[in-house]
Amino acid sequence: MAYFAGVDIGGTKIAVGIGNTEGAILCEMRFPTDEVPRGEDGLDRIAEAVKSLCTQNGGSGPQIRLADVAAVGIGSPGPLDRGTLLKTANLPGWEGINLASGLQTRLGIPCRVENDATAAGMGEWMFGAGRGTSHMAYVTVSTGVGSGIIVNSQLYSGGRGNAGELGHIVLIPDGPVCHCGQRGCLETLASGTALARIAHERRNESPYLQRQDGIDAPTVFLGVEAGDAVCQAIIQDMTRYLGQGLSFLVNLLNPERIVLGGGVMANGDMLLPLIQQRTQEYSMPALYRTTEIVLAGLGQDSGLVGALAVALVART
Ligand SMILES: [Zn+2]
Repeated sequence: MAYFAGVDIGGTKIAVGIGNTEGAILCEMRFPTDEVPRGEDGLDRIAEAVKSLCTQNGGSGPQIRLADVAAVGIGSPGPLDRGTLLKTANLPGWEGINLASGLQTRLGIPCRVENDATAAGMGEWMFGAGRGTSHMAYVTVSTGVGSGIIVNSQLYSGGRGNAGELGHIVLIPDGPVCHCGQRGCLETLASGTALARIAHERRNESPYLQRQDGIDAPTVFLGVEAGDAVCQAIIQDMTRYLGQGLSFLVNLLNPERIVLGGGVMANGDMLLPLIQQRTQEYSMPALYRTTEIVLAGLGQDSGLVGALAVALVART
């Protein structure tokens, strides 16, 4: 039986797991990213984790040998240049590190890296809400906004591996400053970070917001449930911008399905109908009619399952 390893590199933690071809994670371990500020040390630690998971195997099931691990998939914050991390705000000491070749050298196993949204999209396509489609887009709405694109039943990574930067399409050219250097990117208007910032800016208009000690994205959703008009307006604006962003995907890719994931979409029951309505409003009717917009199916494990899906592709 072939096994695969997934590595989900995030700004706060790194998760390493071993799984099978069905997308099941059999054993995993996590450690804080700030324990490995230097990328070379990070790769050493990840390689050790893969080896030790093989030895331990979570204490149950058949023994997995390192030789049984057919490939390693890595989901990493971008931007990347063919597997090398470029300047990344959350991983400054990792700049210039080639994750795939670095890990391949340490483990002697084929490794492939994709940006984290692309990896999560692969996971949803192979094992989650995107199963059965040939043309799919995954959109994550979390701290930022990103996407992963499947075309003709293949991952579309782009020339250097950075396709899908949906969060940085400019919707308001003189809008809020984005960390990418532009202004008015989708991410500055419709991410969890944006919700918190906008709610803070509009605090004086809302007795509900004024009563809060701290304001983050969940505060805004609780405000909607409490009937606060400002929070409702903030969510209306956010879903309008997301609808604009998704309409780009609909018109450009004609996907069969768009899958929405990420922490903010935990409020999917509230958001999905609004996003569908706005996307319809801004898309060409014939294209929207054949596009389903659904919530992600993998939940909290999506990063690791996505990395596992990247490993499955790396083998072939
Ligand atoms: Zn941007």
